[in-house]
Amino acid sequence: MSPILPGATIGFLGGGQLGRMTAFAARSMGYDIHVLDPEAACATRPVASRTITAKFDDVDAAVALASECDVVTLEIEQIHPDVLDAVAARCALRPGREPVYIIQDRIRQKQWLKAQGFPLGNFVAAQSAHDIADAVRDFGACIAKSTHGGYDGRGQVRLSTPEQGIDAWTALGSRECLVEQKVSIHYELSVLVARSPSGEVAVYPPSRNHHTSGVLTWAVVPAVVSDAMTTRAQALAQQVAERIGIVGLLAVECFVTTEGELLVNELAPRPHNTYHHSERGFATSQFEQLVRAICDLPLGATEVFAPSAIANLLGDVWLQDQAPDFTHAMAVPGSRLHLYGKAGARAGRKMGHLSAVGSDAQDALGKVLECYRRLSPGTIASFDVHEPVLAHITS
Ligand code: ADP
Ligand code: MG
Repeated sequence: MSPILPGATIGFLGGGQLGRMTAFAARSMGYDIHVLDPEAACATRPVASRTITAKFDDVDAAVALASECDVVTLEIEQIHPDVLDAVAARCALRPGREPVYIIQDRIRQKQWLKAQGFPLGNFVAAQSAHDIADAVRDFGACIAKSTHGGYDGRGQVRLSTPEQGIDAWTALGSRECLVEQKVSIHYELSVLVARSPSGEVAVYPPSRNHHTSGVLTWAVVPAVVSDAMTTRAQALAQQVAERIGIVGLLAVECFVTTEGELLVNELAPRPHNTYHHSERGFATSQFEQLVRAICDLPLGATEVFAPSAIANLLGDVWLQDQAPDFTHAMAVPGSRLHLYGKAGARAGRKMGHLSAVGSDAQDALGKVLECYRRLSPGTIASFDVHEPVLAHITS
């Protein structure tokens, strides 16, 4: 198999911020970019030489994309299998159909992970409100999740009593859903794995992640966990990536429970929000790494070379009384502002992020949160910016 060299064209199914940042990296390396997205003004458009405006189940549009590309990748897993097949018949599709098909349905994904013997929390596939209520009776507090299309905590309902089953079933569209036992989380980690068509694998050190109401608020590396936990999490993620046959990137989101167990939460076959700090703290960003992997180039180094952290900028920041004070925020040493070029700020919509490098993880995180506080001197309710203390976690 020969590498796809600079000068070739990379196609993206999906033109959100992940596509945009990957496209910037690919452009830096000399590749041309085409993108397919349902939104004409998608975030990747300014970085692409061709934008096809079409839905992710439009086979003709996908054929038009594939016919002009040397390789097609994706930044969202909700791509219709017929589209994946149509692309794969015309050019290299990386990752391929199989891992995307498994991952794009939450129930299918969980069942696959279980069948492979990977550690998971308790779950059931519910076919009715009655099944949801039964799950709460069996497990106690639960989270019901839609099978398709949920992200950033959307498409999820939290339940503490069986009586809430009916409302949860209705809220999720009265169709099959996944019900998970609520895990007692000590902290959350993710591990990013890159794998090329020739089978070369590169595993990133774990990222430590904090969510508020199901949405990522900050992430930091190094994760400040024991060497033993780092090794366990990296080995687990590498096994999942190899078993599912990913080509490109696989992010493995994990929970560490209050009992010290390491569980897989979910998988993503693409760049991941928890590794946006890789642009600052690693020799190879996740975006460059994806380009290397899908083009079958040598994978880049994955050691942390500067402790680094990010904080997400949700639309809420723009909806405060005062406009965000970018200049004040960017005066924090080691910080950087990343905006995705999205026009409409809405509550909960990811508009950008802040990043910072520091002398250690706590310093990098402290800096990025200081940046966040300066951005909007009014009260920002989306998360508690004073809370994080990493040092006490050693398990
Ligand atoms: P999304 O696709 O929106 O990222 P996740 O399933 O990863 O969906 O859920 C988002 C966040 O919600 C998780 O990172 C975690 O903080 C919390 N969460 C999800 N499932 C559980 C669970 N079973 N127990 C406890 N917290 C959970
Ligand atoms: Mg998640």
